[in-house]
Amino acid sequence: MIPKTLHHQSSESCCPARDEQPGIAPAPPSPRSLHDLGFAEIEDELRAASVSAHHAKALWRALHHDGELDLTRRDHFSPPLKRWLHASVGEDKAFFLDAPEVVDESHSSDGLTRKFLLRLRDGQAIETVLMGYDGRHTACVSTQVGCAMGCVFCATGQMGFVRHLRPGEIIAQVLHARRVLQVTHPDRRLRNLVLMGMGEPLHNYDSVMQALDAISSVRGINIGPSRISISTVGIVPGILRLAADARPYRLAVSLHGSTEAERAALMPVSARWDLSALLAACRTYGTITGRRIFIEWTLIAGRNDSPATAKRLADLLHGLDAHINLIPLNPTSGFAGTASTAGHAFQRTLQAAGFPCTFRQRRGIDVAAGCGQLQTARGK
Ligand code: SAH
Ligand code: SF4
Repeated sequence: MIPKTLHHQSSESCCPARDEQPGIAPAPPSPRSLHDLGFAEIEDELRAASVSAHHAKALWRALHHDGELDLTRRDHFSPPLKRWLHASVGEDKAFFLDAPEVVDESHSSDGLTRKFLLRLRDGQAIETVLMGYDGRHTACVSTQVGCAMGCVFCATGQMGFVRHLRPGEIIAQVLHARRVLQVTHPDRRLRNLVLMGMGEPLHNYDSVMQALDAISSVRGINIGPSRISISTVGIVPGILRLAADARPYRLAVSLHGSTEAERAALMPVSARWDLSALLAACRTYGTITGRRIFIEWTLIAGRNDSPATAKRLADLLHGLDAHINLIPLNPTSGFAGTASTAGHAFQRTLQAAGFPCTFRQRRGIDVAAGCGQLQTARGK
């Protein structure tokens, strides 16, 4: 199912008529996550409670830079800020902290990949992965619970769409990965982030961008924007909006098919934005931003791994500053396709056409590290 409106954010419906009825008290506002507030919103909240806005800096630092889970431990907070926190944060109060609970955890046999199943406040579960290779540590986070895009080979797509994640729920995953890294490798920093977990980031554009603002902030988690990759199934308006908004992140586009038929058989989203519209958007993105685009290609035997497909792909990308990432298929129970054995020939064709083309490391297949697979395995 492809949703008709791709800009909506989940929001509470409001009914003024009901509030006007005599004798019915308006419902109290639902509590909000402090991690959902941007810096200016924290200042506004403090001001509204007659607390000087300059205390926002200390609170922001504790939330985003230090990843503090218990704000009552901050002895150095000023008395007015402590009083505000005491009155406003906690169960049955106006604000809470996003601190998802780890309900499952697995490690790859080489110890380099750690995958976490995190339970959110409403009981939904999402996956977060911490990968360490080539001396770099990368967090891979989810942006939705489930996904509406229905790619046939993807465990998350097979699950269907449940809901968007809030900015705080995206930020909390990065904080969790960083906390784990501080324990396992105290000398290392979390420097890279990929939005390649469960969900389609550009279907949840506003929350994702708000989260990335905080994550890339030098006063926050401080992951450089050029080390943050957004991977999209190919939502054309989202790609154009990223370029128009001059968002400084890397963009990866999951293509997986060199003809409409080849792509449509794997990715229902192609009925909404076809290959030519998608490639036109990629070219516009490249022209506006001057940045290289990353093309993701999951290799599936007999479906998209032939020499003719490799040649067509090279022709389609002609003139585009593109780097192709080949991904070996992770088997999922809902898809009968198998991993390709023709990957190296495919790679050589693209390289001969002048494109950088590399394999995404098959890290952690033994911990079911493919998108959505830990959640699916647990569901069984
Ligand atoms: N929704 C976004 C990001 C999450 S998926 C997107 O589709 O790009 C991240 C990448 O993993 C995508 O390139 C996707 O096609 C790929 N992927 C999903 N399931 C896979 C599987 N079972 N095996 C290999 N790659 C998979
Ligand atoms: Fe959604 Fe990406 Fe999976 Fe497709 S591959 S179903 S877009 S998460």
